[in-house]
Amino acid sequence: MGSISPHVAELDGSHFKITRSTNLRDVPLPGSPEEQSHSYCTDHMVTVRWTVDNGWETPEVKPFGNLSIPPTASVLHYATECFEGMKVYRGYDGKLRLFRPDCNGERLNTSAQRCSLPGFKYDELKKLVAKLMEIDGPRWLPKNRPGSFLYIRPTVIGNGPHLGVSVPKEALLFIITVPWPDFTKIKQDGDEAPKGLKLFASSPDSIRAWPGGFGYAKLGANYGPSLQSHGKAQAQGYDQILWLFGENRQVTEAGASNFFIIWKNADTGKLELVTPPLESQLILPGVTRRSVLELARERFSKVVGTLEPLEVVERNFTIDDIENASKEGRIVEAFVSGTAYFITPVALIKSNDTKISTLSASGEPAGYAAQIKSWLEAIMFGKEAHDWAYVVEENE
Ligand SMILES: *Cc1c(COP(=O)(O)O)cnc(C)c1O
Repeated sequence: MGSISPHVAELDGSHFKITRSTNLRDVPLPGSPEEQSHSYCTDHMVTVRWTVDNGWETPEVKPFGNLSIPPTASVLHYATECFEGMKVYRGYDGKLRLFRPDCNGERLNTSAQRCSLPGFKYDELKKLVAKLMEIDGPRWLPKNRPGSFLYIRPTVIGNGPHLGVSVPKEALLFIITVPWPDFTKIKQDGDEAPKGLKLFASSPDSIRAWPGGFGYAKLGANYGPSLQSHGKAQAQGYDQILWLFGENRQVTEAGASNFFIIWKNADTGKLELVTPPLESQLILPGVTRRSVLELARERFSKVVGTLEPLEVVERNFTIDDIENASKEGRIVEAFVSGTAYFITPVALIKSNDTKISTLSASGEPAGYAAQIKSWLEAIMFGKEAHDWAYVVEENE
């Protein structure tokens, strides 16, 4: 071995160098053009430098601003980049919360190692995020706006000056925070499919992930090449790509969200909530996905209001299975899950020349997705005490 010297420093989220901004920005109002722009960040950011010789340096909180990197930097040529997507929530009790931040820390660590960037103790990430929110939270998520949130983007890049194709010797972890529109509250105009997303099934010449690849890691390299399909789908009026894999056109995930379908099983007639499994490493292991599965297993084992119990299954299925279920009137509901777009129903899938409705026979979502969403919101916004919520201490 010998590549890691014993004295290199671990990532440590308990000590910071803090430089406060003297030029605070106006906080955009919900629904404002600044919020819609996805580019108007909060006043501060976190940066942590890493070098192969010294390991992780002391984290800094400093005014939000541009990064300076050499044109030879590894990230610009070899896509040595990975990221996370998290949110911070202003609770109805006035507290700020992160949702299962250690899951994001663990995944960022996995993603970093998949693209030869340095790993770290995963539970340090939440401390870095919490410090940033301790400083920007009070102003950017005011207590008089409970139910609001900001989007947080932790990122790691290879930023050293070596143009040679090799494992990065220098890296930068940074965290920025940006107001983000609440997509679940934005009404779609017109009469076209207001009941859910319209997905466009991917074509065989555009595969998002493959066995032995890196579809399970949140690497920037997964996204750039997928934007061409996304752009084509949007130009035809669709919201996201439904990524299929293999000759039998197995369903994997949708856009940057995981995909779920609730249907009556063709053989047993039993009601099940089905999503593709993680084992083949073709899909991103979503924190929201995991939470949906855990809540559904625990709470939908019995009747909830007007909702019948269902079985929760992680299993592969194909676009033909969805088409058959739709034709036979067996679909109850379909939805996607993820931090950015949260829980959103799916109304329609276009596959080749066929439009498959994924709404129930009544044309209305059955209400399982809405129930799961409200359970999750109760935890995120502090209506239900739960160990998935991590409270950020603010000192005003
Ligand atoms: C981020 C992401 C998801 C959702 O993950 P969450 O942890 O639930 O936000 C799903 N699929 C892809 C491809 C993603 O990038």
